[in-house]
Amino acid sequence: MTPPETAPRWWVFAGRAVLLRTGWVAGDGIPPAEEDPRPAAPLLSTPTSRFEALWLSSDSGLGVIERETAPDAGTPPPPTGAEGMREPAQALVEGPQPPAPRGYEWVDLRHAASAMAPDVFHRAGRAWQLLEWRRTHRYCGVCGGPTAVGPYDALACTLCDHLHFPRLSPAVIVLVHDGDHALLGRGPRLPEGMYSTLAGFVEPGESLEAAVHREILEEADVRIDDLRYLGSQPWPFPHSLMIGFTARWISGTPRPADGELEEVGWFHRDALPRIPGPVSIARALIDAWRRGDVG
Ligand SMILES: [Zn+2]
Repeated sequence: MTPPETAPRWWVFAGRAVLLRTGWVAGDGIPPAEEDPRPAAPLLSTPTSRFEALWLSSDSGLGVIERETAPDAGTPPPPTGAEGMREPAQALVEGPQPPAPRGYEWVDLRHAASAMAPDVFHRAGRAWQLLEWRRTHRYCGVCGGPTAVGPYDALACTLCDHLHFPRLSPAVIVLVHDGDHALLGRGPRLPEGMYSTLAGFVEPGESLEAAVHREILEEADVRIDDLRYLGSQPWPFPHSLMIGFTARWISGTPRPADGELEEVGWFHRDALPRIPGPVSIARALIDAWRRGDVG
């Protein structure tokens, strides 16, 4: 775990890449960016880098880097509102990804996730999720006016004052078992040879329980019972909230019913295939079942 006093102060993203100190994976696992705690300080101060004298532009700590040159000597820097900030600030480099400053590297956040401590990934993910949401919600859906950072992580319309709150998409993720076997599937985006628990987004008007039954029937043609809630995990790619259940199989022979999965089948607890890493709730569900914590 990263002690609060050493937590990184800034998260800097370009697309889905996060700026991390070179060697952070081989080191102590504590990532990135600039630890300078001064409000309104230059984001990064490496003298030879293009990042010199970049400034956060927002007053909420949720910033988009807009300048690449130092402000005039007499110009006060834009406020960053660092006082009272609840968490590290975030910044998004717009346009093409620039070369990383010396001592830093760009790393795809999805790849970095598996090597980050859970609390560090949680903060990085929240930072990226908010920035990505802001990047894709620049105009008001009510009146078409431009939006600006508002209270409570919201974007406020500058014309009609409508508040737009960050989007969250709940998804159920389910470890189906029959006691000694787990039902695992392979989607086209999983790494070679990896199988995982089944998952799907909750639809409008649907309860979590109904979503579990529907998804398992649609994806694997299997009926289940005895749903148990095990926990949840925010997953920021791009804005999911994964809600984890276990369920007991009651009938049906698993098959990739709706084409979402390439393969689905039973795996004995002593002969599991390659499964997702510890950062994922899928792994937590599988581990809970393997430990016998599931009825
Ligand atoms: Zn509006």
